[in-house]
Amino acid sequence: MVWFALGTYYDASEKKSALVLDDDVYDLVEACRVLHPKGLENNAWIAGGTDGIMRDWNNVESEVQALAEAVAKWEDTEVLAPLADGKKKLAAPIQPERIFGAAANYVEHANEMGTVLATKAESNPYVFLKADSSTIGPGDTIYLPKQSKMVDWEIELAVIIGRQCHHVDAESALDYVAGYSVINDITARDLNVRTDYPFKFDWFQGKSFDTFAPLGPWIVPASCINDPQALSLVLSINDEVMQDSSTDEMIYTVREQIAYLSSILTLRPGDVLATGTPTGVGMARGIFLKPGDVITASIENIGTLNNPVAAQTHAYL
Ligand code: MG
Repeated sequence: MVWFALGTYYDASEKKSALVLDDDVYDLVEACRVLHPKGLENNAWIAGGTDGIMRDWNNVESEVQALAEAVAKWEDTEVLAPLADGKKKLAAPIQPERIFGAAANYVEHANEMGTVLATKAESNPYVFLKADSSTIGPGDTIYLPKQSKMVDWEIELAVIIGRQCHHVDAESALDYVAGYSVINDITARDLNVRTDYPFKFDWFQGKSFDTFAPLGPWIVPASCINDPQALSLVLSINDEVMQDSSTDEMIYTVREQIAYLSSILTLRPGDVLATGTPTGVGMARGIFLKPGDVITASIENIGTLNNPVAAQTHAYL
């Protein structure tokens, strides 16, 4: 099966769907117009853009797969060519419906944060909600809030739900996954704790600033990922490796996280799970993001997400 991904790119200010093969980015609608045996008129699935495709994944997966395989074999670049480098500024592949974040889901990360965990048998995942409005795309700037001095990085495997589910068991949980991406769960450590209330933590405040959820560079369909628990993750700041681990180190697997969440609420297509970060965050080293930094976050078989960092300005959106 050919490896491919779906993304979103800017054509001037307009967002359009992208089909990615190796390093080549194609306009999805154009590829469909040229290559799809049914022609555009019978392909209503492309009309909703990448957001619509991922939310209807169960019904459109085979069509997208057929298109990707046809593009992989296509050789006439005068009729269909990849977008030129200057024409493919990528956006976040989708605008998530909701972002669920797993806290302390890697043992070594829990240890570096001083978090004492119960045994897995005596515990459940700890999940918080991160505002969907914090989403930004590849190359977009992460802005450091004025009220924080301790903004930190967290590379995580992002799981995109493609099919509604409620009360699914871990065994069947991956049937509801459309694909995988990279998410950086940016966190203001000094605002994630509170001393003015007895509640200690403030996950909303620490996690939900605008630009705190870089997502991308695209979504790789679940069918192209053999095992989501066997992917290496590497995050660098200005070319210095900070996090280097594997998803096989997760405490609660993707399957178990979906089963847990779906026991609480109905997971919807377009929901994103940020599945926890491995060891190597700045908090444990006493260093934090500063203006001018560039973060590079890569996950095996998915791709690389780059984001520069800048001081917050009063009108950056
Ligand atoms: Mg996290």
